[in-house]
Amino acid sequence: MQNAALRAMDLDFVYVPFHVLPEKLEEAVAAIRALDLAGVNVTIPHKERVMSFLDQIGEGARVIGSVNTIVNQGGHLRGESTDGPGFLRSIEAEWGSAQGVKPAQGIDGHKAVILGAGGSAKAIAFALAGAGCDLVIANRTRERAEDLSKALNGVVGQGKSRAVGLDGEVLAEVIREADLLVNTTSVGMYPDIDSIPVDPELLHSGLSVYDLVYNPPETRLTAQARKRGCRAMTGIKMLVHQGALSLEMWTGQKAPADVMENAVLECFARTASAR
Ligand code: NAP
Repeated sequence: MQNAALRAMDLDFVYVPFHVLPEKLEEAVAAIRALDLAGVNVTIPHKERVMSFLDQIGEGARVIGSVNTIVNQGGHLRGESTDGPGFLRSIEAEWGSAQGVKPAQGIDGHKAVILGAGGSAKAIAFALAGAGCDLVIANRTRERAEDLSKALNGVVGQGKSRAVGLDGEVLAEVIREADLLVNTTSVGMYPDIDSIPVDPELLHSGLSVYDLVYNPPETRLTAQARKRGCRAMTGIKMLVHQGALSLEMWTGQKAPADVMENAVLECFARTASAR
């Protein structure tokens, strides 16, 4: 999707993958300066440890403690995280308001339930809390939900977040009261495509459902949500917008999200036909 965007932007850049072993991470970061790369994306397992080799960490990345984008400005390396901002931008692009879930009302004061408490949950939770949402973090391992909730309350303000387990009547009740449900667990991801992270009976028409899983492009959760009258989208949108934000940081130009999304969808179609 990055190369499709670069072609459409008529820029003489190329986006290539580098497989970096953990013991080579510091040298790989030095190579960004030595080779004068415009920047890189960073993924698992390097997103946290890479921070210690950079010159500056952006505020959003510092708060969540991980970096997915490095920007090289004349040898000065800045780490950023585009996951949370990309998630918010995809909501804005798809669901239409300046900030939010319900056009005309914005996201401020809305109630969101986040399923999961891993790396992506952290980025989404801080983004939503920063935009004024009240949050419930629901996770299979309840202690991880409690840790994330505590961290959020420490930064955003006491009482903005609480933790629950992933099943039972408490979860049913918080979903009944929510406007937005975000799945950040890997449940439903290929090849486990028949799984769904919550009982579909809990999906009510007042709920907007966002599934971070992007493979398959329509998950069982989003299909069930649409069937029950919910607004729904999958992680393809976040994938595209977090990538577009990285590209904009490297090039200083607006990235064509529609071109990037088409490239992703074509890639999925090719992979699916090859299976
Ligand atoms: P992670 O840090 O490993 O967290 C995984 C989360 O899923 C944890 O909360 C874990 O619960 C939960 N989980 C895993 N298996 C489960 C199961 N069988 N039942 C219930 N909960 C389960 O992973 P991550 O980096 O946050 O990624 C999570 C998902 O988001 C993946 O599907 C990934 O592809 C997707 N993602 C999408 C984007 C995008 O741009 N669209 C970006 C990042 C991630 P425990 O704590 O109990 O283990």
